[in-house]
Amino acid sequence: MKTEISKTRVCPLCGKSYTERPALSRRDNETLICPDCGTREALESIGVADAEQDKILHTIHRFSADLQPE
Ligand SMILES: [Zn+2]
Repeated sequence: MKTEISKTRVCPLCGKSYTERPALSRRDNETLICPDCGTREALESIGVADAEQDKILHTIHRFSADLQPE
């Protein structure tokens, strides 16, 4: 098992601080954003509406909550 040092970063898109592995923004390919915004950008790029993005993120959080206690 690999140990990762978790570092707190602040997402420039939503302003949330997070410790998960950052995602690379598709918009400029250099900005590091939080995993949620990474998911949103990916969903947006395939034409998923905002309301639907929220539902999908909610589902992801429900499942990942079991794996990563906060
Ligand atoms: Zn974000």
